[in-house]
Amino acid sequence: MRVAALLRHAPLEFARVVYGLNDHANGRGATMAAEDVARTIRQGTPVTRERAEQRARAYLPAAGHEHCPRCWVFNGIKSPLHYRDHSDDRPESALCRVCAAEYVTAR
Ligand SMILES: [Zn+2]
Repeated sequence: MRVAALLRHAPLEFARVVYGLNDHANGRGATMAAEDVARTIRQGTPVTRERAEQRARAYLPAAGHEHCPRCWVFNGIKSPLHYRDHSDDRPESALCRVCAAEYVTAR
């Protein structure tokens, strides 16, 4: 179930790359997607639509060792996710300590 929830995020992260590249190219560097693109470039990884699309398609988290969809699609790196148990007011979620993404993994 966690894997299924995360798999749905890979195409969304690809969409963020596309938005980020467009914003970046059009001088709207302050959007969150554009900042994610800019940070990735600063880390020395070129961001292209083609590579992000390939990675989004290839995203396959291993059950029990899930990695962050955003780090993977933007950067090609496998950052481990850390789960936060659900509480009364929020569902279980997975957090990435590298990029600070948070994904709801419960139904
Ligand atoms: Zn991440």
